[in-house]
Amino acid sequence: MAIVVRTATASFFKSKMESKKECVECAQPIKLRAKRCNHCASYQSALRRYLQMIVLTTGFALTTLTIYLLPPVKEMIEPQKADIKVSVVDSDFKAISFMIANVGNQTAAITQVQLETKAESGYHSVHYLKSDIDHSLLDPGKAKIVKASNGYLVPEAVSHEVRQMLANQNIKLEESCELVIQYIQLSGTKFYKQFPFACRLIDRGDIKIPPEK
Ligand SMILES: [Zn+2]
Repeated sequence: MAIVVRTATASFFKSKMESKKECVECAQPIKLRAKRCNHCASYQSALRRYLQMIVLTTGFALTTLTIYLLPPVKEMIEPQKADIKVSVVDSDFKAISFMIANVGNQTAAITQVQLETKAESGYHSVHYLKSDIDHSLLDPGKAKIVKASNGYLVPEAVSHEVRQMLANQNIKLEESCELVIQYIQLSGTKFYKQFPFACRLIDRGDIKIPPEK
């Protein structure tokens, strides 16, 4: 009788041991059919572990991105500055059209637009222009087309076609005009930025082409 009991007990323990396996991650004994370890919570299937890792990695990446995009952190990493860029579109002797953009990360208040000439003769003129951008705000990432004039004659920008034609002959026009944009950024810093372009001056009425060498 005692022998029977002992045999039964032994076989009971044996079957209990056989129903266990080692966790692939922490090597603790877990149930043979367990899909997930009850010690370290690891999936026992390689595919499930892989998918879990992707979720964790993506979650981490998103968290990092989210933290980075929070304004205070972004401000600590990137300097805060309004940055105005200008490109002359076209003009006649009455008005000048240009594209203005704020490629910085702070709002700019445009305070003055002027067209200056810097001819070789020493003749220097400043044309204060009026437009709908005067004393208006230009937010970061925003751009607009502006037409500026002052009721008087202003130098005329050389058209893209003429510039291209001369460039094909290796003639580079002197950029004797510049559009000057004055603006203030939120911190109070004032800027004076010059954007040179080739033009026909009023007093000469002709394009200045450098002599051939
Ligand atoms: Zn485990």
